[in-house]
Amino acid sequence: MPGVGFRAGVGDFSGGLDITPANRMICRMELLQAAEAAVRKAADVCQRVRAEMVTPESIEKKDRSPVTVADLASQAIVIEALEPLGIPVVGEESADALREDAAVRAKVCELAGASEADVMRRLDAGGHAEAKGRFWTLDPIDGTKGFLRNDQYAVALALIEEGTPVLGALACPALNCGTVLAAERGKTPPFSVSTVTDPTQARLVESVESGHSDQDQSVQIARALGIGRDPLRMDSQAKYAAVALGDAEVYLRLPTRPGYRERIWDHGAGLICVECAGGRVTDVDGKPLDFSRGRKLEDNRGVVATSGRFHDAVLSAVSDVLGV
Ligand code: AMP
Ligand code: MG
Repeated sequence: MPGVGFRAGVGDFSGGLDITPANRMICRMELLQAAEAAVRKAADVCQRVRAEMVTPESIEKKDRSPVTVADLASQAIVIEALEPLGIPVVGEESADALREDAAVRAKVCELAGASEADVMRRLDAGGHAEAKGRFWTLDPIDGTKGFLRNDQYAVALALIEEGTPVLGALACPALNCGTVLAAERGKTPPFSVSTVTDPTQARLVESVESGHSDQDQSVQIARALGIGRDPLRMDSQAKYAAVALGDAEVYLRLPTRPGYRERIWDHGAGLICVECAGGRVTDVDGKPLDFSRGRKLEDNRGVVATSGRFHDAVLSAVSDVLGV
């Protein structure tokens, strides 16, 4: 990926795959390589958009066009890269935003390097695919606020089989000068969780946005666990990457309102990376995340992801503070 030195991953897989739709026996290793190549390519384009991103003043005015353009181009690029594999992609975006705005449409097509018809078809396929059986789930830019702030964001892609993420690739262009994680269930990735065993020494990560995770409750949970350090706040699934790389031990996502259900694309790639690296991921009630219920995690509330060494102690503190 030009300009970005990615520190972790499973190698450089740009191009070279010989996969045809007729070949239904594609092994998971090849799927993982395709996933990693796809998120790298999309993240590269997102970084280009961000580098050219208008003036700080327009960011202050909440000009959302750079993020819209990068988001849609990223989804179109990933779907194009995965098309030969013949597995549906459930993406966060659809082509609706492009229908209304010719300038955005032209820019997205230019960035994606594809015709208007192909881009629209790919975006709509992603926006309307059914989250059922075997499918990819994609967040083309997770952490749009971080993207705009010149901070953390991610391109997140996971393959779900019968309700469980089985492999995934997570590009975090602003994490440690650029990081791509790729992991496949049952295989040891080239990164691992922290070996810290004392919860009082844990580093906690949470959302920058207080509307996405209850930051007052996380203070109480940290206190109950004896964690002295202030939480590290990051946008996007870069939080899962921090846990998977051993840079943090606990990621808390505490519901801010009763009815909110997490989106599958906000968690698939992060979960597989943390679990393969030796960590644990559950919801705040200690239940496994169930990806079999459509585009949302209908049966779960919030998320607790840890290095695994003291997951039960964290769950018990969460339960005490949340009163469940
Ligand atoms: P983060 O960067 O970790 O704060 O999460 C960004 C994601 O939060 C977005 O992709 C949204 O899908 C998701 N989100 C939006 N509203 C909420 C909410 N009320 N609670 C939890 N997550 C949310
Ligand atoms: Mg997201």
